[in-house]
Amino acid sequence: MSRAETLLLVVFWIAVAVAVAVRLAAAIRRHQLADPAPQYARFTPPLPGARWLACDTTICGHMTTVHTPQPDGAYRCFNCGTTKGD
Ligand SMILES: [Zn+2]
Repeated sequence: MSRAETLLLVVFWIAVAVAVAVRLAAAIRRHQLADPAPQYARFTPPLPGARWLACDTTICGHMTTVHTPQPDGAYRCFNCGTTKGD
């Protein structure tokens, strides 16, 4: 292989490496823009004395919701307002 052929081969592979690097950088940039980090959830302190209890109404869909204590000892659903004894 002559000196000119070797130089041509080196230039060719440098061009290939630059082309791959440019395409890889573009792909990484697209990936970073498409999938940003999610926002942090906002912390809210729990209500004093509150409990997570199953709410037996169709409004709450029998799901567990926050219930706040009432003066008579019952717990009131924070979502639908119904009370349940303890
Ligand atoms: Zn409820």
